[in-house]
Amino acid sequence: MRFTELVRALSDSVVDALAEFDRETALAAGIEPNRVRGWARVHDAFFGRTKWTKWQRRALDKARGSGLSIDQLAYIESRLSLIDDPSTRWKTRLTLLGTRGNFDAVKRRAKKLVPDPEPTPPADAVKFGRAASGKQTMTVTADQRLIADTEHFLRDGIDTSKPAMPQMSAKFEDLLRGNLGSGSGSGPAPTTSAVPHAQPRPMVLVGLPDYVSIVRGEGDEVILGLTDGTTMTGAEFLNRFVATAENELEAAVFHPEEGAVNLYRLSRFANQKQRDLARAAMPTCSQPFCRHGADACEIHHVTPWARGGETNLANLAPLCSYHNRVNDDDPRRARRGRIEMHRGTPVWVSPRGKLVPQMHHRYGAMSTLFGTDPPPG
Ligand SMILES: [Zn+2]
Repeated sequence: MRFTELVRALSDSVVDALAEFDRETALAAGIEPNRVRGWARVHDAFFGRTKWTKWQRRALDKARGSGLSIDQLAYIESRLSLIDDPSTRWKTRLTLLGTRGNFDAVKRRAKKLVPDPEPTPPADAVKFGRAASGKQTMTVTADQRLIADTEHFLRDGIDTSKPAMPQMSAKFEDLLRGNLGSGSGSGPAPTTSAVPHAQPRPMVLVGLPDYVSIVRGEGDEVILGLTDGTTMTGAEFLNRFVATAENELEAAVFHPEEGAVNLYRLSRFANQKQRDLARAAMPTCSQPFCRHGADACEIHHVTPWARGGETNLANLAPLCSYHNRVNDDDPRRARRGRIEMHRGTPVWVSPRGKLVPQMHHRYGAMSTLFGTDPPPG
């Protein structure tokens, strides 16, 4: 076939060639699937079953005499598919079939007669991405006037000889933290509500040496056995080997095999203590790919309380409310996976039994103190 013949085949009265259009034949010949879809649209319009037979005949006559190429016809049909009303669609089709010129000319006219539909506005939202390298991204979708006002406010008064973004970000931070004050005194009074700082609560993680074994728990205290045959309480151990003064730090003691042992602080809340230790053992949601911090998590009973699971450390794991809800509390369910304890650390076990450690944070207490990661699946 000569090139001029190829071009003619794709343009000269090409519409009739589509009367016997067959999708499988076209795909089997290696024609690009999008193009095949376009041909199918042209075939359906000019040869498909319709109640509008008179309009279809007029359109076919017009297409035959138009000299429009197969690509132009397909583009027209893709545009017409945006029109719901069949009567309007047939009228617009006849108008467009009267267009002459190259592909772009047809495209321009079709876009003018059949404009893009109004996009549906996105819902108002505030979204938070993952933290990385100490930074995190927040995206706000809200009324355009609020966003425009915010941009204007943040840009106002910046030093144009320096990059704008860091200055705007700093002003935004001051705004959120309530640090902007009333300035010159004009305008509304400063608001007292602002984004509060999280109260950092340092906790010292203490790893017990191998020679210490846990003899028993006694009330709120644990008794440790040393290999020289003596025993001491956890508090005595801390005072002797760790604590240097009456500091106000909290100390959490971990055993290399048993996991969390005890937490020492001035005031004691038994329930809160266990929760805090569970969070020290796993500082995030225990589900491997979840980014929620343990502070925002619920404390999950690995063996449900209703099935005899106790509220003690070997049975507690932080889970965000979503992952707590979908956890397979009953191991026989095996649908969404479940949390189990392995060497003092909660680990997610997939429905097929594969152990998957938390991927987002790798500095739970056991990993920090003893370098023990849960066994790989
Ligand atoms: Zn989660």
